[in-house]
Amino acid sequence: MRITFLGSGSAMPTGERFQTGILVQEDGRTLLVDCGSGVLHRLQQSGVGYENVSTVLLTHHHLDHIADLLPLMKARWLAGEEHLEIVGPQGTKSLIDDLLSVHEYMQGKLELQVREVVPGEFSVAGFDVSAYETRHSLPCLAYRFGDLFTFSGDSEAFAGLANFADGSAILAHDCSFPDDVDVSNHPTPETLGRELAGREIGRVYLTHLYPHTDGRHDEMLESIERHYDGDVRLAEDLKTVSVE
Ligand SMILES: [Zn+2]
Ligand SMILES: [Zn+2]
Repeated sequence: MRITFLGSGSAMPTGERFQTGILVQEDGRTLLVDCGSGVLHRLQQSGVGYENVSTVLLTHHHLDHIADLLPLMKARWLAGEEHLEIVGPQGTKSLIDDLLSVHEYMQGKLELQVREVVPGEFSVAGFDVSAYETRHSLPCLAYRFGDLFTFSGDSEAFAGLANFADGSAILAHDCSFPDDVDVSNHPTPETLGRELAGREIGRVYLTHLYPHTDGRHDEMLESIERHYDGDVRLAEDLKTVSVE
């Protein structure tokens, strides 16, 4: 499986990190998880291209995870692609209907399949996925792809989510802010380190990084290391990780 960070940023721009998007590829299957602002460009830069993404899986409906959905639809339509499947938590159908009602000219341009999923097991784009509800300011699902990859979506760090990720070869986890930012709905390195303590995870990538984290990566890693002794790194846009 190849995991590519298309956007490792958040709702506030850093100039380097676009908003959330992760490409998951295995045996010719391709799935885009989240589609924030900038992801359409990153898809093109990655060499995969928007033509080759026919399924998008959403963690939740915050703008930094869905902003490029309509631009993706329009680019696919212009390129002569006819389908797009969009899978996400409850409310995804009305979200897409509402987006299309604002941009009426996009109605009927693509054959859209929209599917809502709940915590538990399901299949999408040929991948078997488990979903787990996170702790965030909107309903949000974390997704796990067998033993290979787990993505936290947006979430506070908590034991249930750490249990859900335990045993993954790769975990991409929200780590929005350094420790001195008072935050809810997202982790800090300290809270993430505490919850990951004792878990068996091959490698953790910190993502969803706000500008507040610029220049403070070493300090964030040290904070996590005080509680968790595994391999932890910072995600970067267009970084690809291969796991088997
Ligand atoms: Zn969010
Ligand atoms: Zn977010």
